[in-house]
Amino acid sequence: MTDSQKLILLVVVLYVSDCVTWVNSHAIAFLSCFGRRWTWRQAGRIIGNSQGGLLWSRLLPPSSMRFLSQTTPVSISPQGVVDFVTHAIARDGYAEQSGTALRFEEISSVAHAEHELRLNHRRMVGTCSVELTSRLAHHLQQLRQAVPSERELLIDHWLDAAFDTRLIRERLLRFRDLTRFVRWHANIFFCYVFVAVPGIVLLRDWETTWRFLLALYVFLLLSLVWYYFRAHQMLYRHRRGQRWQSAVIMCVNPLSAMRSVDELARDWLAVFDPLAIAAVVLEGEAWRHFAGLVLRDISYPLQPWPVELDEQAASVVTWHREKLRTRYEQLLGEKQEPLDRILLPEGAAAAVDETSRRICPRCLCQYRLSSDSCSSCHIPLSPLPPPAWNEA
Ligand SMILES: [Zn+2]
Repeated sequence: MTDSQKLILLVVVLYVSDCVTWVNSHAIAFLSCFGRRWTWRQAGRIIGNSQGGLLWSRLLPPSSMRFLSQTTPVSISPQGVVDFVTHAIARDGYAEQSGTALRFEEISSVAHAEHELRLNHRRMVGTCSVELTSRLAHHLQQLRQAVPSERELLIDHWLDAAFDTRLIRERLLRFRDLTRFVRWHANIFFCYVFVAVPGIVLLRDWETTWRFLLALYVFLLLSLVWYYFRAHQMLYRHRRGQRWQSAVIMCVNPLSAMRSVDELARDWLAVFDPLAIAAVVLEGEAWRHFAGLVLRDISYPLQPWPVELDEQAASVVTWHREKLRTRYEQLLGEKQEPLDRILLPEGAAAAVDETSRRICPRCLCQYRLSSDSCSSCHIPLSPLPPPAWNEA
């Protein structure tokens, strides 16, 4: 391999490394190229553990958008807060959670640092977003200071905000508008580095062109960093330190500048529930598939729970889950999706062979009559609907 080929390989490896991010197990990413053809992803399982894993962005184009989101990472009721939620969307095990339970009367301090929420000076939970952690800390502070009779109303306000699909649409439009120049420049800079420069070097003498190529490279890089800086100022006005830090990193590692849209998008929708975002961006079968996973997950949580909870803490978890499930069902109602068809899609309701008699309502695996519970989810099976159900 020649020195030029080694250099190109190194640049490609560095670019690809900027396309992956470590996120926690509850994070859901929504990805799109040009604001169309949305898909969703979770952290991969190959390189990861019970706390998180590597999440891939789209490799091309560099201007593709990737928004992160997750459901509220702790269970909250008017009585207190518990570091355990039953969410395990499309997973066969729970993420690591401590099960720490605190009544609001026991909370003396609420603080946050980056992705970490701290209660009583101890780490409670981490989230996928600085913005979500900050909002959650504020929410818990409000609940702590409120009288018990006001707390349910405050929780309802929190959920109203998390499921505000009108605001999600507005924020998406605003993001696309404010990052327009960053996205264009990221694509131009990528084409220059990976296509134009190697092409010119192959066709022309390197000795005579390197000054021109270097000058244009510096100009394009600084333009991109400048547009990133301006967009960040408009999207996250108060995060001055993060803006400067990222700008310096981009000047040192120009390949990270190509992925600057990822960084701008990361926190922009993080305070909204993933299902509310999905209701706005996903369409057709993709939406129904995602909604089915979320609804089955919250209706039939994995058993057994991995943490030992006393009766009061378990009631907080159940209250929180029921509250969320009600919101999910309301969202389906707004989308005019029948709940029973989302929980049990038409294709899954048909028996795979003549011995199938029962179905796991969570993972939709089919079983014979002799089985009582799902071997993966450890929850009771339901009878398979009669054939007439499918023909209805
Ligand atoms: Zn199952």
